[in-house]
Amino acid sequence: MRNLIIQILLLVITSVAVDAQAGQMAQTSQPKRVVVIDPGHGGPRPGKVHRQVVEADYVLDVSKEVKRLLVNRMSNLDVYLTRSCDSAYHESQSSDNKLRAEFANKRAADLYVGIHCNALGNANVKGCEVWVLTLNEKLMNQNRLVGAMYADEGDFINPEDIDRNSQGFMMALSRQLENEPYSRFFAEECCKNMASYGLVNKGVKAGTVYTVLYYSECPGVIVEMGYLTNNSDYAYLTSKGAKQEMAKAISDAIVTYFETLYGDASQSAEAAAEEESTPAEQTSEVKAEEAKEAKEAEKVDEGYTIQLISSSKRVNTADSQFKSYKGKVREILGSGSYKYKYCYGSYKTSAAAQADLQEVRKSFKDAFVVKYRDGAIVAK
Ligand SMILES: [Zn+2]
Repeated sequence: MRNLIIQILLLVITSVAVDAQAGQMAQTSQPKRVVVIDPGHGGPRPGKVHRQVVEADYVLDVSKEVKRLLVNRMSNLDVYLTRSCDSAYHESQSSDNKLRAEFANKRAADLYVGIHCNALGNANVKGCEVWVLTLNEKLMNQNRLVGAMYADEGDFINPEDIDRNSQGFMMALSRQLENEPYSRFFAEECCKNMASYGLVNKGVKAGTVYTVLYYSECPGVIVEMGYLTNNSDYAYLTSKGAKQEMAKAISDAIVTYFETLYGDASQSAEAAAEEESTPAEQTSEVKAEEAKEAKEAEKVDEGYTIQLISSSKRVNTADSQFKSYKGKVREILGSGSYKYKYCYGSYKTSAAAQADLQEVRKSFKDAFVVKYRDGAIVAK
């Protein structure tokens, strides 16, 4: 055990030294930083569903707004969403979570932010909280049942299933030693910001081993915006402007995080826009039109998708008839007796959807592009 601790400390010391070098270089070359925003659930797994709210849809709206706010504010930050429509990464929940971590790892993310809503059998429990990874044995054992009571299997790793001698565990432990202070710093900021809109601040939580945090190489958190099962949290979360406010709270915490760690990486929206627009783009009317369409689509959940089939009865989106699109299909309501429309993809412009249509028609010869807005089809 002593050997293991020494090995881990050496790993931490080496990586701190490398970080210090990278920090010095950053002052001259200002490398772009990367944040990955992960709207939880999606596709065949809607997350918590309570009265009118489907968690997967709710967190997608908030995540898109977080991205929009960050892109406008920080030119030196690359913002990635793990999904931009109602889709999943894998039919197994556990693999799905690992792939989300891999998504962040492949992009060399500096921060991972998973966005969720909470729910519990006890309707009195309310408030916002943010989870970080800890592999502390005592905390893991105290909190392991908390998740098991209300979460989907695969979102968590049971402490009993972890092989303490495996390389994977040692890597996770050494990363945790390095990342935890950063994750906690972000988590505290985020809780404080969300609570400023009236939610009870339940603070930073640790103990339950989230699969996605266990496999993420960078500092990371799971943001729980409030309890759908509590009346006052539900009333707030479904009130007008709540999604905007939550997105503001989370994106402000991300800005504070990067500014505190890496200095002033922000730039005004005007300055960033000036830099990005080139004369070629300014003269292209088509591109301007596309940009306008895309901008409008970001304000509401609106865009274009490819309708594969329609049905008079509900169909499971993980059904085998969807072939290679299985699990990537979302249900959108339309009119008529075949009101359940099953669609693939989410595109900002009709041109982008048309570009994928040919490929889709190899499997669904009658597929066509439709426009949707707030979960319903509006026009062909
Ligand atoms: Zn969730």
